[in-house]
Amino acid sequence: MKTILFCRVSSREQEETGYSLPAQEKLLQDYSEKKDFKIAKKFSISESASGKYQRKSFDEMLDYVRKNDIKIIICEKVDRLTRNLKDAVSINEWLNENTERQVHFVKENCVLSKDSKSNDKFIWNIKVSTAQYYIDNLSEEVKKGQKEKIAQGWLPTKPPLGYKTEGEKGHKIHILDEKKSLLVKKMFEFYASGNYSLKKLVEKMFEEGLRTNGGNKLVKSRLADLLTDPFYIGKIRWNNEIYDGKHEALVSEEVFNLVQRVLKGKTTPRYTKHSYLFRGFIKCEECGGLITWEKHKGITYGHCNHYRNCSQRTWVREPEAERQISELFCNLQIKKQELTEWIKQALKESHKDEAEYHCSALNELNARLGQIQKRLDNLYDDKVDEKINKEFYESKFKKYSEEKDSVLNSIKQHSDASNKYFELGINIFELSQKAPDLYQNANLEEKQQLIKLVFENLYLLGDKINYVYSKPFDIIATAVESTNSSKELNSAKNLSKIFELSNSSLKTNKIGAFSPEKTALLAGWDAFRTSHWINYIKYPERLQEMLLSCLKNA
Ligand SMILES: [Zn+2]
Repeated sequence: MKTILFCRVSSREQEETGYSLPAQEKLLQDYSEKKDFKIAKKFSISESASGKYQRKSFDEMLDYVRKNDIKIIICEKVDRLTRNLKDAVSINEWLNENTERQVHFVKENCVLSKDSKSNDKFIWNIKVSTAQYYIDNLSEEVKKGQKEKIAQGWLPTKPPLGYKTEGEKGHKIHILDEKKSLLVKKMFEFYASGNYSLKKLVEKMFEEGLRTNGGNKLVKSRLADLLTDPFYIGKIRWNNEIYDGKHEALVSEEVFNLVQRVLKGKTTPRYTKHSYLFRGFIKCEECGGLITWEKHKGITYGHCNHYRNCSQRTWVREPEAERQISELFCNLQIKKQELTEWIKQALKESHKDEAEYHCSALNELNARLGQIQKRLDNLYDDKVDEKINKEFYESKFKKYSEEKDSVLNSIKQHSDASNKYFELGINIFELSQKAPDLYQNANLEEKQQLIKLVFENLYLLGDKINYVYSKPFDIIATAVESTNSSKELNSAKNLSKIFELSNSSLKTNKIGAFSPEKTALLAGWDAFRTSHWINYIKYPERLQEMLLSCLKNA
C-alpha cells in the first residue's frame, strides 16, 4: 500500500525543543515501515514559511495523492494535518470520495476513513461540519456586516497607515494616528512635487522616520497602494466602488489628484537633446496642444502643433515671446516697503505650521530613540549577568546600534529641514523681487528653471503670451497689482489697516491670521500663508545659489 508522509513543525518548537522536521519524519517513517506501507513521497512544511506558502504546500499534497491514487496519508497529530478549517474540509472531502482512503494520526493512534466509527471520527466530523458551516456562513455574515459598516460611513477593515482604530467591537471608528499622520501627509506632498520617484520616496520616507505599524520600512508596492487610497481624502474604496466616509481626511483633494497625475506619469518631464528655451512650457490657448519650436534661417519660431483641430496660424518669434515673459517677471515686484515687511511676517507665520510638523516627527523619533537605548541598556545588563553569550550580544548590539544611528540621522535631518524651510519661504519672496534681474543674467537652463518655478501655465494666443502664475507667485502678483495701482492704498495708514496682522492668529487656527472683515485679497494671503505650496515647487539648488549670490551683491 502506497502512502505519503505529511510533516509540519512550528519554528518555535524547533527553536525551543530542538524538535525538528527530520525527527517528525523519522517517527512517521518508522510507523509506515511497521505497517508495511510504501512511502511514495514526503511533504514537509515549516510553520515559519508564509501562510500562502503553507497553503500551497497543503494543496500540492492533496493534488499529489489524488493524481497518484494514494490511499493513505500519515501524519503525527490532527493539528499537524489541518492548520485551518478549510484544510479540514478539504481532507474530509477527500476521505468521503472513497471508502478505501485513510488518514493515520500516529501519535493519537487513530485512523480516519469514511466508515470509521470511532470516537475520533465523531469529533473529527463535528470539527469538519462546524468548519463547513462556518465557511459557508462566514462570507455571508461578513458581507452583511461590512455593508452596514460602509453605510454608516466607516471602513469595515483596518484603516491605512496614518489612521488608527478606536472604540469597542461593533463600534470601531478610525481616527488620525497622531504619530504617523503628518508623515503620511508629507509623503503625499513630496510625491505631488514630482521630485521623487517611488523608489526615492521609499528612501526619503524611511529617513523621515515613517515606519509601518509593525515598525518596518515601507516597501515600494505598499507605498504606491497608499498613494492611490482615497481613504486619505475621506472616502472609502470598497470592491471598486467609492463611498463617502465619516473619518477625517488627511490629504486635500488637490494634493491627492496631483499625486494621481504624477503616478500616471502625465507630469513627468521629458528631456530632449536639442533644447529650445520654451520647449514644453507654452500651450496653444485655443486647443491646448503644445507649442512646437523650430529654427528657420537662424531664427526660432513657435507655433501650434495642430495635432488637434485649431485655427491658430501665428508663428511667434522666440525673442518676442521672451520679451513678454520678462515683463511678467516685473509684475511681481512690490514697490511698497510696508507690504514687503508684511509678507515676510506672513512667511514667518507659515513657518509655524511646518515647524509643528517637524516637532511631531521629532517627538516620535525621540520616543524610538529612547526605546532603542533601553534595549541597548538591557542587552548590556544581560551580558554582564551572563544571561547571553558573546555572539548574541554582538549581533544584537550591532542591530540596535545601526537602528540608533539611523534614528539619530533622521533627527538631524528634521532639525535641518525645519530651518531650511524657513529660509526657503523667505527665498521665494526674495526671488519674486529679484526675478527680472535673475532672468536677465541666467543661462538657458536657469531661465527654464525660473519659468517653471514662477508659472503654472503659459499659453499662446495669436502672438500674445497669456499666463497663470504658480500659487505663491500668483498671490504676490495679485498683491502687487492692487497695492501698486490703488489710490486708496497710497497712504501708509490705509495700507497698515488692510495688511495689519491680527494677533488672533495665535488662538484660532481655522480662520487664520486675519479677521473676516478684511478684503478678499487677504483671503488669498491666508491661503498663501497656510498652504503647503512650497512642497509643490521644484526649487533647484542652482537657482538657490544664484539667488544667494544675487542677494549678497544687492
Ligand atoms: Zn492650437
